[in-house]
Amino acid sequence: MSASAGYFEVTSTNARPETAGNKETENRRGSAAAECASIKEMAIPRKMTVRGRWLAATRKVRELAMVGRALAHTGHPVLVQIVPTRFCNLSCGYCNEYDKVSKPVPLDEMVQRIDALGRLGTAMIGLSGGEPLAYPHLDEIIRRIRQTGAIAGTITNGYLLNVDRIERLNKAGLDHMQISIDNLEPDEISQKSLNVLDEKLEMLSQYAEFHVNINSVVGGGFGKDALVIDKRARELGFESTIGIIHDGSGQLKPLGEEDAEVYFKVSRRKKTNYARFDQFQEAIAQGRPNHWRCRAGSRYLYICEDGLVHYCSQKRGFPGVPLAEYTKADLKREFLTAKTCSPNCTIGCVHRISYIDHWRAPQTRTITPGGKQEKAAKAPQLIQIQTGN
Ligand code: SF4
Ligand code: SF4
Repeated sequence: MSASAGYFEVTSTNARPETAGNKETENRRGSAAAECASIKEMAIPRKMTVRGRWLAATRKVRELAMVGRALAHTGHPVLVQIVPTRFCNLSCGYCNEYDKVSKPVPLDEMVQRIDALGRLGTAMIGLSGGEPLAYPHLDEIIRRIRQTGAIAGTITNGYLLNVDRIERLNKAGLDHMQISIDNLEPDEISQKSLNVLDEKLEMLSQYAEFHVNINSVVGGGFGKDALVIDKRARELGFESTIGIIHDGSGQLKPLGEEDAEVYFKVSRRKKTNYARFDQFQEAIAQGRPNHWRCRAGSRYLYICEDGLVHYCSQKRGFPGVPLAEYTKADLKREFLTAKTCSPNCTIGCVHRISYIDHWRAPQTRTITPGGKQEKAAKAPQLIQIQTGN
């Protein structure tokens, strides 16, 4: 903005009579104008440049190929979330996924895990935490993810972003970033606050070559701020999604009237990319269970800092097998395993990924993560769930 104002100030004085003294002044003005023009050029958001548009187009092609492969074959994970560090620089009151003492996973172990995911044919690998931006070798592991052919993403609270960090993420080949923003001002429940992060969002809007999604939440005391967060995200050219907060086991917390109203206002606007797969949340918002087949352990995996495979962040310990020992046979078994926690589950990423296979392969066995034993699935049990509305 100030660069543009400077540029017009220079050109607006060009009508003065030409003299030798003025010539030097004009030369200076010419180079100042060129400099200002180049600053003006720099002010074009990176995603709007030719390179930015090219990267977005090729990303879209890779994503479509990923969806095509997922529709054609069921034998590989579509999304894996992996934790490079459990440490987080924040301390949100509702969070059970961080600590203040964990050391980062050594780089060579992270590389081995990513390569193992590559061998399983994983389509998308997302870095989770803790805070992934606190991981010292983030760029290296993003590059490694891209080398496996997978789409690379990260979730972050955004606090550690700066221009240099964004440029390094661009260079490493990051495809997607999700920033969760819970409220406008920090409080004891959450420090993921718009008014603290707005400057970081502007930086991202200017410099990021990767896709950015801002996710806000309703429920559990969060609510009306989501409308402001959604508006700001779209003003800055980001995708905006909304989630419903869950309890400590990933299960449904019915929304109050005000939260439900906010949820429907945000979610029923024009949908883009991933937001269109969020129909399951409508039932959650109304306090109704969903009928779906959770494909966790197969199409979706959660890999903790110890390198173990879990169904999801809220069902850690199941199956709890080292990733290095996880095979295609495990993927196949879990694909066909119903989880009894699924009707009231609010884990959005697993819902979205499982949606791809919604139409096929009924599940033939059932497990209660945390229950004493697995039991063979019987149709009446599933019917019981369906009629429990
Ligand atoms: S920023 Fe994320 S990981 Fe860190 S405490 Fe808050 S919710 Fe948990
Ligand atoms: S239904 Fe699946 S994603 Fe949801 S809590 Fe259970 S195992 Fe996790």
